[in-house]
Amino acid sequence: MNLEKTYERARIHPAHRQEFLDTVPLLSAQKYVRHVAYIPYDVRKPLAILLMATLVHPLTAYLKIEHVPSKINVHPVAFEYELPDFLSILIHHEGTHAREFYEQPRNVLRPTYRLKDLFSTLSYDEWNKRVLKTEQQNMDAEIRATQAELQNLHGFQLTDKYRAKRLRYLDHFREKRDCLEKKLVAYR
Ligand SMILES: [Zn+2]
Repeated sequence: MNLEKTYERARIHPAHRQEFLDTVPLLSAQKYVRHVAYIPYDVRKPLAILLMATLVHPLTAYLKIEHVPSKINVHPVAFEYELPDFLSILIHHEGTHAREFYEQPRNVLRPTYRLKDLFSTLSYDEWNKRVLKTEQQNMDAEIRATQAELQNLHGFQLTDKYRAKRLRYLDHFREKRDCLEKKLVAYR
């Protein structure tokens, strides 16, 4: 069965979704991904808007260990997308997060809390600054991952609807980033 057919089957029958994810070619993201898991949830819950997420083991994140492949969770809403769009989210977007976690965990996994904080007293301003910086860094990561979707390295036949949505996301992320920058400037 070809990929289009296995995807269609997975869309209709959730029981086949993990099987589909086990066979989907990850292309450029292969090296950075350990496992792609189907995580169903109650679609009525607020989390139901989440499509996919790239996860790093907490210890890997805390110690910022390099060259550790991530796990990608795929949720039911992702299967509402057409196959090329689905592949783009998985490989271009989540693949970018996974590559960055793999190659430069020091730059992308910035914990708000550090062990040494237990032994020091941070002022409210210092805390706030750190939280804002972490949020800004997360926004930067989302911008890069969304840009990767629009660059479309693998030349997937993306739908216009998907492209337009990604452009809107990009504007939204940039706006949010600028807003954080303004707040940070106030501390300098
Ligand atoms: Zn993302």
